[in-house]
Amino acid sequence: MARVVVTGGAGLIGSTLIGRLLERGDEVVCVDNLITGSWDNISAWVDAGEIEFVRHDVSTPFEIDGPVDRVMHLASPASPKDFAELPIQIMKVGGLGSHNTLGLARAKGARFFLASTSEVYGDPLVHPQPETYWGNVNPIGPRGVYDEAKRFAEAMTMAYHRFHGVDVRIVRIFNTYGPAMRLEDGRVVSNFLVQALQGRPLTIYGEGTQTRSFCFVDDEVEGILRLLDSDHVGPMNIGNPNEFTMLELAEVVKEVVNAEVEIVFEPLPVDDPAQRRPDITLAREVLGWEPTIELREGLARTAEVFARRLGV
Ligand code: NAD
Ligand code: UDP
Repeated sequence: MARVVVTGGAGLIGSTLIGRLLERGDEVVCVDNLITGSWDNISAWVDAGEIEFVRHDVSTPFEIDGPVDRVMHLASPASPKDFAELPIQIMKVGGLGSHNTLGLARAKGARFFLASTSEVYGDPLVHPQPETYWGNVNPIGPRGVYDEAKRFAEAMTMAYHRFHGVDVRIVRIFNTYGPAMRLEDGRVVSNFLVQALQGRPLTIYGEGTQTRSFCFVDDEVEGILRLLDSDHVGPMNIGNPNEFTMLELAEVVKEVVNAEVEIVFEPLPVDDPAQRRPDITLAREVLGWEPTIELREGLARTAEVFARRLGV
């Protein structure tokens, strides 16, 4: 049993992770300022006294009383919609927030776990992306605030490891979706599901030939926990290698929701990566992990919860 501090615990991945940590008997302290997370994702645990909740912006220093065994830093807005609306907060939580949480791990002698991203590969020139690829990022474009903050966070994590001897793990998460997403999150899966459930047209940005590889959150969290418990220090891709164009995704969403809705085309955002798929050879070899939930099943599970939340 470990005492685990989870920053960003009220979000999609953080709240799913907390559920799994509690199941296995760990104690959880969730630190979140609810900027993109949802109180509904954690309120039952907080009200029942099953987790401690600290409402705080981790970009400013904070302390946690008592022993801490693991610090898992997931706090960060993550939707491209947020890149435009919260650019400075994103850079601060990736930079200062990573510094503060690394400092907490160091002070407590805890293992540090960083939630990094496939966005460190930018608009990748190598496909699929292995961990050894250094990426193709535009530092001054609209996505640069997120990509560079995460690249800085990885560099800071490795500096704390090399210079201060902090025990660290780094996961590079690829497009992950699930029932705990905000309905208005702005990422493609929640947009398409909400649109289909409400009988509105699906909005495809660009021509829809760009690709992504979507991982259901339960698979993602299983990989995250295996990496946390492993001895592997350097970054590791955790994602689903099944790749879809946005046109294909739209068709699958229509089938799953059973909605006869149109597709409309909107402008492609600047620097939108043309293709993305994880090479998960390392995760297979080191963790014996691979995803088990197919896109249709994951979308169906998410759609069921979304339908309830939308009241349709
Ligand atoms: P999310 O927006 O659902 O959750 C992020 C959480 O962090 C929210 O609860 C938010 O309130 C909290 N937060 C943000 N800034 C904070 C701050 N300064 N102080 C305290 N709390 C703060 O996003 P998610 O999809 O669950 O992402 C979780 C982590 O995984 C993020 O670090 C994200 O960059 C990373 N990630 C996610 C994906 C994905 O596809 N879901 C892909 C790559 C990386
Ligand atoms: N996208 C889309 N329609 C939407 C939202 C997004 O076609 O309503 C596209 C977006 O341009 C990108 C892909 O879907 O090519 C995935 O976008 P998302 O915002 O989910 O995350 P990203 O992988 O770009 O960070």
